[in-house]
Amino acid sequence: MDDDYWFIMGSDSQKPDTNLSFFKILPKSEHYERFKKGHGGEAYLRLGVYTKKTLSDVKKGALCTCGHEAQDHDEGDDDVCLFNDCNCKEFSSFQVNLLKRKKQLLILNS
Ligand SMILES: [Zn+2]
Ligand SMILES: [Zn+2]
Repeated sequence: MDDDYWFIMGSDSQKPDTNLSFFKILPKSEHYERFKKGHGGEAYLRLGVYTKKTLSDVKKGALCTCGHEAQDHDEGDDDVCLFNDCNCKEFSSFQVNLLKRKKQLLILNS
């Protein structure tokens, strides 16, 4: 499409009735253009698990989505951010754990 592209990931399956595919519409970027020119028909993909972290899960220096560190959030008072000019009410952070195994991906339509 003009400014976006469809990323579609699926696999050959013994059980096509229950096979799942993944798709997402993403904006074209210079990374996309470089990949499109240079992939040579295949690529390796690493999948990861995206998990939400609360104040009790993280170290003091971990960044909240408000931009302030975990130690700037009050553990006793619903995790609110202690900066006066910040309206963050609860510490939240994300962590991506990449899985060790790589998957080979064949590029079908480029
Ligand atoms: Zn915060
Ligand atoms: Zn904050």
